Amino acid sequence: MLTLLLATRNAHKTDEIRALLGEGIHYLTLRDFPGAPEVVEDALTFAGNATKKAVALARWLSQSRIAAPEVPEEPMLVLADDSGLEVDALNGAPGVHSARFAALDANPAGNAADAENNAKLLRLLREVPSARRTARFRCVMALTPVTEAPIESASPVCYADEFELQTRLFEGVCEGRIGPAPRGRNGFGYDPLFIPDGYTQTFAELSGAVKNTLSHRARALAALKASGAVARPFNV
Ligand code: IMP
Repeated sequence: MLTLLLATRNAHKTDEIRALLGEGIHYLTLRDFPGAPEVVEDALTFAGNATKKAVALARWLSQSRIAAPEVPEEPMLVLADDSGLEVDALNGAPGVHSARFAALDANPAGNAADAENNAKLLRLLREVPSARRTARFRCVMALTPVTEAPIESASPVCYADEFELQTRLFEGVCEGRIGPAPRGRNGFGYDPLFIPDGYTQTFAELSGAVKNTLSHRARALAALKASGAVARPFNV
């Protein structure tokens, strides 16, 4: 059986991924690996951050496999994601800074509360009319196999990270617009402000079930599933 390490401690994300990819996979999360390295998400793109997380964990697991034989011998992949909101009138901001959008002003290293991020977004869009409040949630998922041992590069000049080379990326986008005020109590983050195309309600007003059919994460997962990368025969 394939083992998939989900690079998250978030139970909601874990459930969403399991529901979409289905059973028949042995799922592990960061909760199963308390000693896993913390990865700083400082890349300039979602793909960069997702890759950084997946590669760091795959490399660490590869080394742990040598050190700790109890780590499963079966084929193992790491799945990491990064996502956020891109607002056209703000040239794509908050983007990779979505979690710490409000904190950027005071404490660039820390995340900000959802309400503060939403208040900042509304303040910046105060003068922007409805037609120009287009935005999208974007999610990039990175899938990296945990190979036996990293292949050392022959040349330090022409160095390529083997884990990075084997990483596959899957993207999902959900288009919509930013409403004039927060509405709804479901979800998290920017959900109370985000109205997906084809709907009048915000993500926070729609049920989780509806959001899960539209969301950027669901679409990235659908692309991953369609690729066959986590289906038999395992392409690792
Ligand atoms: P993460 O990469 O999934 O942890 O998301 C980073 C940040 O993007 C979150 O802290 C939220 O602010 C925002 N975000 C990502 N996905 C969603 C979503 O589905 N709804 C609302 N906000 C989201």
